[in-house]
Amino acid sequence: MLYEVSTLEECSCSICPRSRLPPRAFKLRAASLRPILDLRDAAAVHAKVMELNSVIIEAQSHTLHAQADSFAQVSRIRELEDRIVQMEDWEREKQRYQLHEVKPGVLAYILKEGMAEGEPAHQLCANCYQHRIKSILQEEHLAVGRVHLLVCNRCGSELIIQGLRQEAQPRRKPRR
Ligand SMILES: [Zn+2]
Repeated sequence: MLYEVSTLEECSCSICPRSRLPPRAFKLRAASLRPILDLRDAAAVHAKVMELNSVIIEAQSHTLHAQADSFAQVSRIRELEDRIVQMEDWEREKQRYQLHEVKPGVLAYILKEGMAEGEPAHQLCANCYQHRIKSILQEEHLAVGRVHLLVCNRCGSELIIQGLRQEAQPRRKPRR
């Protein structure tokens, strides 16, 4: 492909050196423009690549945020499903118990008749029960004051059945 610079051929200027050159000298081969065109094309391609990189980085950022949101939502759904299962389990479990006065002013939950389901007789901490937690009271005896008490090892509640608790005796701390 040839590019002809026809305007220079018409130049009548007496001092213009190019006007004295034969017309064919102004015919440029496309190959001689190639480096210039290549430079121009390379700059355009580079600009386009930079633009596309920017778009790709932005898209990746959006994708990462969307994935993070999705993971958070899945985690939240699982957490809520677990809570629903726990609430359903507790609603079923609590039906097996009834509030009982172990001694005047001392309350605990005991198994209803016919609801043992193979478990031995036991009593639940009334405090933990109110928080939807099944915590079985353990029986203990303290030599000092001949104290007979029921203890919740979870919240630290002590139900004195018999005897007198000495304040000097260390009280147990809740596990939480
Ligand atoms: Zn308790």
